[in-house]
Amino acid sequence: MQSPFSRREFLSRAGSAAISLLANAATPRASAVLSGAARPTPEPVADRIVDIHVHFDEKNPGFIDDFLKVSERLNLTACVLTPFANRRVVADAAKQHPAQIVPFGFVDLDAQDAVQQVKEFRELGFRGLGELEFVRKPYTDAAYMPVYELANQYGWVVLFHTGIVLRRKFDAAEDVASYRMRAFYLEEIARRFPKITVIGAHCGNPEYEWAAEVARWNPNVFFDLSGSTLVKMHDRLADFRKIFWWSGTDEGTTTPDNDPSAFSKLVFGSDTGLDQIEGVVRQYRELFEACSVPERTQKLVMGGTLAEILHLA
Ligand SMILES: [Zn+2]
Repeated sequence: MQSPFSRREFLSRAGSAAISLLANAATPRASAVLSGAARPTPEPVADRIVDIHVHFDEKNPGFIDDFLKVSERLNLTACVLTPFANRRVVADAAKQHPAQIVPFGFVDLDAQDAVQQVKEFRELGFRGLGELEFVRKPYTDAAYMPVYELANQYGWVVLFHTGIVLRRKFDAAEDVASYRMRAFYLEEIARRFPKITVIGAHCGNPEYEWAAEVARWNPNVFFDLSGSTLVKMHDRLADFRKIFWWSGTDEGTTTPDNDPSAFSKLVFGSDTGLDQIEGVVRQYRELFEACSVPERTQKLVMGGTLAEILHLA
């Protein structure tokens, strides 16, 4: 695809300078892509699923062990979204199982000590933030900038909830509104903080068009399709070809590995209990089928893109 940005620019925008170094040094995956069948391709990472959206379950004392079993069975690495109170158990587990657990810190952006929490997460070896959600103000409010500044400085991946959000208690007042988490807010964050890889959960449900267009123009923006979308759209999955419309045109901006498919702006996210992750994998495969997504792009979506951004080995 004709593209105003080079692959190297994309990589430095999407992640950190280290990624460009990797690209220059030709990682096994990158070299295989670049040279086709000319090199042997023992690519365990390439076929590994990377799930951006696994919430740590504080109610399950055996969560880590349960997760490791699922991880082995599905060949899956997860960004484990961790409440501040559970930070140590997940940090320890990630040190023991770095190929399977990537620790992400959940902070309440409205908490007085949000910045301090982010720093502590970093000291414990956390690799990103998320899922940011239930905000009192729109994501682009000035009050949240110090957290984004830090994430930018760290070159982190940040997962934002986007779109419709559940109501936790039907009989109690709560200061929560979906409009504060609309997908288009991610555009400003991605542009002001180019070293953050911005990932929107749920593809802006139901504002998929906004989500896709923001991803199209911003190399450091991706979306996952977790939540109810793939259920709701089950009988019209091919509609996503209209939403991610620019495959094979000159209208897209830089994509991972200069992939010509617009679907390379998606990453895999489950946002379910551990026993349902496999079902979400199936839903993604159905989407790929319905939209004729090329196999190379499927691999990027299911793990290749995040493996590169997160330097998973
Ligand atoms: Zn969410």
